[in-house]
Formats: sequence, C-alpha cells, structure tokens
Amino acid sequence: MPLNAVDRHLALVGFMGAGKTTMAGVLRSRLGRSVVDVDTQIEARYRDPIPQIFEERGEPAFRRVEAYVVGSAVERRHPTIIDLGGGAVTFPDTRDPLADAFTVFLDVDVDTAWSRVRGSDRPLARDEGDFRRLFEDRRPLYLDVADAVVASGDADGVVLAAAGVHHEPGAIDRLGDLVPGDGSVALVADETVMGIYGPRARQALGDRLTTVHELPSGEAAKHVGVVERLWSELTLDRGGTVVALGGGSVTDTAGFAAATYLRGVAWVPVPTTLVGQVDAAIGGKTAIDIPQGKNLAGAFHWPARVVIDETLIETLPERERRQGLAELVKTRLLAGDEPDVRGAAAYKAGLCLNDPHDRHVRQWLYLGHTFAHALEAAAGYELAHGDAVALGLLAALRLSGRDPSVLGALDPQPVPVDRERAWEALLRDKKRTGDAINLVLLGDDGPRVESRPADEVRAALDTLIR
Ligand code: NAD
Repeated sequence: MPLNAVDRHLALVGFMGAGKTTMAGVLRSRLGRSVVDVDTQIEARYRDPIPQIFEERGEPAFRRVEAYVVGSAVERRHPTIIDLGGGAVTFPDTRDPLADAFTVFLDVDVDTAWSRVRGSDRPLARDEGDFRRLFEDRRPLYLDVADAVVASGDADGVVLAAAGVHHEPGAIDRLGDLVPGDGSVALVADETVMGIYGPRARQALGDRLTTVHELPSGEAAKHVGVVERLWSELTLDRGGTVVALGGGSVTDTAGFAAATYLRGVAWVPVPTTLVGQVDAAIGGKTAIDIPQGKNLAGAFHWPARVVIDETLIETLPERERRQGLAELVKTRLLAGDEPDVRGAAAYKAGLCLNDPHDRHVRQWLYLGHTFAHALEAAAGYELAHGDAVALGLLAALRLSGRDPSVLGALDPQPVPVDRERAWEALLRDKKRTGDAINLVLLGDDGPRVESRPADEVRAALDTLIR
C-alpha cells in the first residue's frame, strides 16, 4: 500500500476532543472530497442521538453498526474523508477495513481533550478519571492503526502526510529510514549537489545504496540522453527506489527515469532548492525537455515519499533562491495568507491531491505562468524562470483588478524581448475559445479560470516588454 492518500480514502482517528470533525471540514474544502461522518451516519440509521443509542441498545450494538458504516465507506469508489468516532478503533471489525484507507491519528494531550469535552453529552466523557484512563488505554490503538501521526489542529500536517510529504530539518541524515521499504536504492544528484550533500546522503542510505549517478547541473539534466544513461546504469529490481537529491531539474529527470524504468519503480525526491521544496518535488509531475519545447516528454508518477529538509537550501546561491520566492508569492496570492516553506508545500500538496491529473483546481498553480512561459520562450530561455513568473504575476494581478504592489520585493521589471515572438508563444501555450483566452485570475472568492478577450491579454503581455 502506498504511504499516501492519493486516490485512497483518508481516515481520521483520535480521542474525543482531538478536533476530528473540525479537521474533516477543513480537509473537505482543501482536498475537494466528501466527508463520511461515521457518528452522523449511525444516528441517521437509528434515528436517535448517540447517547440514546448507547443507553438503549448498548455499546456492542453501536460498534457493530459503526463497523458496517466504516466498511461501506472504504468501498466507495471516489476517495473520501472518513471521520471516525473516538472508540471506533477498539473494535477489530472496524480496525480491519481501515487498512484500505490512509489513516491519520490526530494527536491531542489529555488535558486539552478534557477541557474540550467536559460537560458535553458524550457518554464516555462524564467522569474525568474514567476519561483519563480511557485516553491511556486507547492511545496505543490509535498508534497501531495510524499511517501518520499529526498534532490536533495541524491541517497542513494532515495534507502533507496525505500527500506523502515528510518535512523535518536534518531529514537527509535519516534517509535510510525515510525511504519506504527495504529494497535497494539508486542515488541521483547533480554534480553540484552531489559535491555538497552526496557524502551525507550516502552515509544515511548505508547498505541499501547500490548505485550513484551524477547528472549535469541545472536544466541540462532534463535531456533524453541523460535519461537514457540512467536507464542503462540503473540496476534496481521492481522493489528498488530512485532517490533524487537536487532541484527541480534533478527531480524532474530522475522522477521520469523512475516512472519509465521497468515500467515504473518507486522514487523519493529530496529537494535542495526553494523551487523544489515548494513546487517541483510535489505532486508527481515528471518531465524532460525535447527540441520542440520544455517539459514535453513526461509522466505522472507520484513519489513514494517526498523528504523536505529546509537546512539543505542554506547553501543555495541567492540567484536560485529568488526563483523560489516568486513561487512563494504566487502561493500567497492563491492561498490568501503568508506561507512559509512548509505551508506553501502543503498548499500545493492539497491542490495536487484534490486533482492529481491536472484537470481542474491544480491549474490554479499556473497563475501568471501563461505570461511567464511566453516571455521565457521569446527570450530563448535566457530569462530566469522566477523573474518571468514575477512578471506573469504582475500581468495576472492587473487583469484581476488587484493592486500589483503586493508583489513587494519581487519588483518585476519589463524585459527586452520580441513582442510578436512572445505573443505567438502565448497563443501556442493556451487553449483559445474563439477570440478569447483562458487564464487563471484572482476573483473575489479566490482563484478561477477566466476567459478574456485576446486584445486585452495581448495588451497585458505588452506591458511586460520594453
Ligand atoms: P535546478 O534544479 O535547475 O538547480 C539550479 C542550480 O542550483 C543548479 O546549478 C544546482 O546544481 C544548484 N543547486 C541546487 N540545490 C543546491 C543547493 N542546495 N546548494 C547549492 N546549489 C544548489 O533548479 P530548480 O529551480 O529547482 O528547478 C528548475 C526546474 O524545475 C525546471 O526545469 C522546471 O521545469 C522544473 N519544475 C518542475 C515542476 C514540477 O511540478 N515537476 C514544478 C516547478 C519547476
């Protein structure tokens, strides 16, 4: 079973007062999934409130119906969020179907839990001593069924866990434990990153490490010749894992090699750039460039785990850091708050879980990118991607009727590229409906895809060019 909730139900377990129902509501909107509230379904079946069901029919009868409701929930075709009652895990017939779901234990300390439920009508929360004893008895059961443990209230933590993203400073030194399974590992990094972090990664992977592969640094890695070399050098069997240590160029290339080698082996990106940590390593898109354009040969291949160690970006040159800042600002505009690396990673993870194959909300991530791609193409890819995105965000803000000063320190400046070339590139990049062009813009309720007249879009593009 994969260690994530991609195309899989996400079950929430935890003690009374852990905030499971509130969390389920937050996840409903972030992941675009319906919620199966197990207690509410049981009440609907009996047409009685839970305290009354407990009193009149007894706990065993309640648990039997609970097991039935959970069993039917995991059989649903579309992945849901299953919000379980605190005692659900005590009954083996309920625990068993949970193996088919990705199960998150929402952890809370007993004092907080008691302060939240005391005085409520919950049948098992009437006496503080009993409550505390029950807490001690049940905690091991939650830990036993859990695929991940997340602190109560930490919605970003649940989304990251559900996407298989592990965020921990210093995680590179624990790669041997963090790469799922016990099969052999091939380590792929670019020559710069291999020089800085290769020794620590090798040491951490220990006996599992079978081969090491060095790629050229930067976009030069995303070449079919490099992938071909990886195919011929890899010695993994189907149970092996490719570990991709580096920025988006390395993770895109090694991820694509992993997607295609033996028709797909597991892979674990360990992003070392800001772009990688908030964007490229998350969501399972892998690709290389071909002469006809960037990222035109690729595959969706969700990583077995993503390991984000923020200490790795300490050695990143300032120019590369700037590339990631534009993505962070984009996330701020989309999410409407000020995310740090973890928050931005969680935002992207949520959209990708919601829409793994890029059919609807994941497209919001293209905010500003239609313009950015057009400028990059017109500049023959001599323009840094982050600077192009900053300009693209400026155009998107103007077309959305928003104040561009929110871009702050990004301070995008018009670039000298050929206007016709940029316009042609934009038209090639975009689906047109008649004389209108579809763009991601910001509405009053958040991002949305909007159709705008071609001359308006062209005018917006022209303001980015000097
Ligand atoms: P990169 O991987 O090209 O690396 C840029 C430079 O930084 C390289 O020279 C590299 O050696 C160096 N470097 C990386 N980490 C370092 C570190 N910790 N210390 C010192 N030097 C370091 O840069 P990037 O911006 O991460 O990746 C860009 C690529 O990512 C593009 O090809 C883009 O298409 C792709 N991308 C993919 C996705 C996706 O969803 N798959 C999303 C965004 C971007």
